[in-house]
Amino acid sequence: MSKPIVAIVGRPNVGKSTLFNRLVGSRIAIVEDKPGITRDRLYQDAEWAGRVFTLVDTGGLDFVESGDIPRQVRRQVELAIEEADVVLFLVDARAGLTSTDEDVAALLRRTSKPVLLVANKVENFQRTGQLVDFFRLGLGEPIPISAAQGMNTGDLLDRLVSVLPPVTAEEGEPDTIRIAVIGRPNVGKSSLVNAILGEERVIVSGIPGTTRDAIDTYFEREGRRYMLVDTAGIRRKSRIEEAIEKYSVIRSLRAVDRCEVALVVLDALEGVTDQDKRIAGYAHEEGKASVLAVNKWDLVEKDTRTSQRFTELIRRELAFMTYAPVVFISALTGKRVHRLLEMVDLVAQQQCLRISTSELNRLIRDAVLHNPPPADKNRRLKILYATQGGVKPPTFILFVNYPELMHFSYLRYLENQLRAAFGFEGTPIRFVLRQRD
Ligand code: GDP
Ligand code: GDP
Repeated sequence: MSKPIVAIVGRPNVGKSTLFNRLVGSRIAIVEDKPGITRDRLYQDAEWAGRVFTLVDTGGLDFVESGDIPRQVRRQVELAIEEADVVLFLVDARAGLTSTDEDVAALLRRTSKPVLLVANKVENFQRTGQLVDFFRLGLGEPIPISAAQGMNTGDLLDRLVSVLPPVTAEEGEPDTIRIAVIGRPNVGKSSLVNAILGEERVIVSGIPGTTRDAIDTYFEREGRRYMLVDTAGIRRKSRIEEAIEKYSVIRSLRAVDRCEVALVVLDALEGVTDQDKRIAGYAHEEGKASVLAVNKWDLVEKDTRTSQRFTELIRRELAFMTYAPVVFISALTGKRVHRLLEMVDLVAQQQCLRISTSELNRLIRDAVLHNPPPADKNRRLKILYATQGGVKPPTFILFVNYPELMHFSYLRYLENQLRAAFGFEGTPIRFVLRQRD
């Protein structure tokens, strides 16, 4: 199921990142302590009243060309209008109405998407008189909140959930591998999609997906069916998308949601950037299998160790997904595009692996013998029993005596043991701890 995207927009200092942290705060998971994931979160899943959505802080997206503030804010808003399902327009009740707020409102009044006007920094609800001015923005009654104190944010979330688009059913046909081609602008996503579709038999193209504007392309290769998620967004770039290219991360988020395998495209000439880490990190966190495609390999001067050195760089920079196979390709010449699809097949299969309970418990027993679980002064962690709870991604439930004694490093040890024994290439692995006496 595709998650709706909710973008927070507004001038600098109105409290966007404070609100972001407030709304996602409770959900930041303990499992995600993996090194290498960029910690400055710009997007994060949040949940309210049973609805899950992805919240994006557009203020955190840094712009290449600095520009003046009204212009930067304007870009954020254009991006939000283009890519998000709901816009939260944040204003500062203490500072009062500013001309930048008015500019933003003028843009937002033109979209048919739901916009919620939110007045932040209202700590004293006796004095909501200060909000009267904001009615002038023509976006309805402002919702007063204090992001810092968490006041009235429950009401805000109720309102937000009521305007989210309806839940759409899981799409796609069985036996079809859904692939999202993701990456920064200019790494070669469109070229890669065209290279794939040029070689393989396209079955149907241009079937609108359930998500608004998304166009998916189906193709067949060696008797197997694939779907490229949201190829319209990749192949036909709108004027706005070009203008705000840097932010195409939102488009990637949406595509990742709907895929099984993420093809993360990197640019061989540029190495691994922070933006690459964010995009790949999202695929990882969403539990999707990944293949790393190092594109434009034709432009690299190579000696016998070049690809090895590049792989080492990737392993270091994307340390949270050392499980992902790396393929050096050229979308331009088509070199190794075939190999890339073989890797897609492999990881799609690996993310569905099931380990029998007896094999799993034997492995855990051996692992524990070699390297005992953590202990504190007078208690030692015991893993009583393990079972595989699910696939996509493979998830293991560990029944333990004291869950709080578990360390991230011990889980990583178990993960490594599982990978050494069973593979799980290209897919993240998750653990769930359950307490048992
Ligand atoms: P952003 O630039 O829009 O992301 O704004 P920040 O979240 O960084 O907040 C800007 C400043 O406003 C910080 O000093 C925050 O502590 C402060 N702030 C944020 N929310 C509130 C609030 O609800 N009440 C008050 N009084 N201050 C707040
Ligand atoms: P996107 O923004 O990620 O979709 O990137 P594009 O597919 O539009 O490619 C950006 C630029 O890189 C274009 O000028 C392409 O021709 C070029 N390009 C893409 N793939 C390759 C490649 O494998 N080798 C070379 N030399 N150029 C490439």
